[in-house]
Amino acid sequence: MTEALPFAPHLKCPNRPITTGSWRTFRPVLNLEKCNLCLLCWIFCPDGAMKRGAETLAVDLDFCKGCGICAQECHRDAIVMVEEG
Ligand code: SF4
Ligand code: SF4
Repeated sequence: MTEALPFAPHLKCPNRPITTGSWRTFRPVLNLEKCNLCLLCWIFCPDGAMKRGAETLAVDLDFCKGCGICAQECHRDAIVMVEEG
């Protein structure tokens, strides 16, 4: 049974056309000095809102719904959730 499941619940692209960012009350803030680009947050983000580059990472706030999973999964405390507004 588990063999049929995908490796991780990751979307390959943001959840277009629903801009889930409009739901957000908290936003993730990245500390790139702590980040080692392990990409766990990218794997676990349910909306594909983590944008990865060759040596960088950013959050697409149009699609980040503020769930905090990325901050929970980050093992280097490189993401903190801050209240909007
Ligand atoms: S999980 Fe943390 S350390 Fe890993 S890429 Fe994301 S922010 Fe960086
Ligand atoms: S808070 Fe993190 S895991 Fe949740 S949607 Fe935003 S970037 Fe993805």
